[in-house]
Amino acid sequence: MEKTMNDDCIFCKIIQGEIPSYTVFENDDVKAFLDISQVTPGHTLMIPKKHIANMFEFSKEDAAKYLKYIPEIARAVKGFDPEIKGMNIANNNGAVAYQSVFHAHIHFVPRYSDHDGFKMVWTDN
Ligand code: 5GP
Ligand code: ZN
Repeated sequence: MEKTMNDDCIFCKIIQGEIPSYTVFENDDVKAFLDISQVTPGHTLMIPKKHIANMFEFSKEDAAKYLKYIPEIARAVKGFDPEIKGMNIANNNGAVAYQSVFHAHIHFVPRYSDHDGFKMVWTDN
């Protein structure tokens, strides 16, 4: 096991293939996979291939290394379905901000039409 991983973390287990996932995008730095709870079809999570709890723990080097893939993954997810007209890209940091898995991740939530009824699940109200 790489020392950059955390034995108790479900997303580290996903990176190591110990928990199955549907991969959307992957390279040496990051992995993107479908969220187990699809708030809209195609809802994807991008994670660094290093255990970092959340944005508060990111160094500038971490940010440069991992976050640069956000636009590429957004385009990959959008490319899966011509009906995807837009996308919410979001990130939760800390339990009070609805972070439930403490391995940093970016949500990509495809949007299909105006007024499709979806409200961001982690926002208040
Ligand atoms: P958070 O609430 O921390 O921003 O988001 C964590 C996300 O991880 C949730 O949307 C949840 O559905 C997703 N998730 C939790 N466990 C698993 C899992 O084992 N596999 C996958 N693919 N997603 C998971
Ligand atoms: Zn982890």
